[in-house]
Amino acid sequence: MKFGTKAIHAGQEPDPTTGAIMTPIYQTSTYWQKSPGDNKGYEYSRGTNPTRKALEDCLAALENAKYGLAFSSGMGATDAVMKLLAPGDEVITGNDLYGGSYRIFTKIYANYGIKFHFLDLSNPDIINEYVNDKTKMIWIETPTNPTMQIVDIAAVGKISKANNLLFVVDNTFASPYLQNPIDMGADVVMHSVTKYIGGHSDVVMGALMLNDEELYKKLWFIYNACGATPGPMDSFLVLRGIKTLHLRMKAHCENGRAVAAFLKDHPRVEKIYWPGFPDSKNHEVAKKQMRDFGGMISIVLKDASLEDTYRIAGSFKVFALAESLGGVESLINHPVSMTHGSIPKAERDKAGVVDNLLRLSVGVEDIEDLLEDLKQALA
Ligand SMILES: *Cc1c(COP(=O)(O)O)cnc(C)c1O
Repeated sequence: MKFGTKAIHAGQEPDPTTGAIMTPIYQTSTYWQKSPGDNKGYEYSRGTNPTRKALEDCLAALENAKYGLAFSSGMGATDAVMKLLAPGDEVITGNDLYGGSYRIFTKIYANYGIKFHFLDLSNPDIINEYVNDKTKMIWIETPTNPTMQIVDIAAVGKISKANNLLFVVDNTFASPYLQNPIDMGADVVMHSVTKYIGGHSDVVMGALMLNDEELYKKLWFIYNACGATPGPMDSFLVLRGIKTLHLRMKAHCENGRAVAAFLKDHPRVEKIYWPGFPDSKNHEVAKKQMRDFGGMISIVLKDASLEDTYRIAGSFKVFALAESLGGVESLINHPVSMTHGSIPKAERDKAGVVDNLLRLSVGVEDIEDLLEDLKQALA
């Protein structure tokens, strides 16, 4: 089945009791048992719920995976993966990460004796210098947040296999429409479903998709034991959001391309990060592993102080100044004070996350209005 058909149908059969075409919201915590242990496959909704199950099967299909697990947030999904580790283990990851991922690694899991190496993965060969017998996992994002650096998934996958590591890709920025890491050697794909997959800025949710049955059982055990699982109403909203994922992504890419072209030579823009430019770093890798380049763009403003940056960020009329991304509406974000505030300045500077950097999540509004808004705000 092709992507759009899966987005609309995967995991969703007409409801067996009524024939309802749309998956019902099974708003129940518990399920009747005929005799102890004799039930219809559902016992308690922390572990299993039919609405969530339909969503998980759909999520798995989108990433060409066998198994899907939905979590109550992207960070809940990340937390479950980290619980596979034990004190003394080491993780290799990128130096340009979602701020919350950096925070959970350094402020929570470092305290449990797990060591993280934050590396510039634009050339994956650097991983070989850090792998030792304690290394258990590689965790990457691509494109990275917020500087849109591209990491070669297949190349990291090869290094991971050769060293018998668990390779996890946070695929939030690309969405499963643009990129499927499992097909390129990833063991687990993580998503903040809050973003493109949900797509309407009305739900916080996370997901893991994977193929290996043993690993699925381990992660399901953590999911049920620790309990960061989403409710049926949110599961329903995301199933509904997914039905237009392919249509939304096409529009995000088209608007993203037009906004990138407009900003590229704008006199107020010193630098622009968007993987679709032929002269952007690792553009050839992006072309190889992504179907298109998406609607996430970051710009560094020319000669702008922090105050200038604040003033420009506050003068948009269509773009809303807010955290998050991937919804139908356009958003503008100031990473240093918003999403990446928990990363120390020295680390931020190393990754190019400077005071005068703004990140755009280009939505699916009419492009004329978006360009007009950019024009007036930058003026
Ligand atoms: C938002 C985000 C997360 C965290 O997901 P939540 O749903 O907010 O918990 C993780 N990674 C990336 C790349 C994100 O953008």
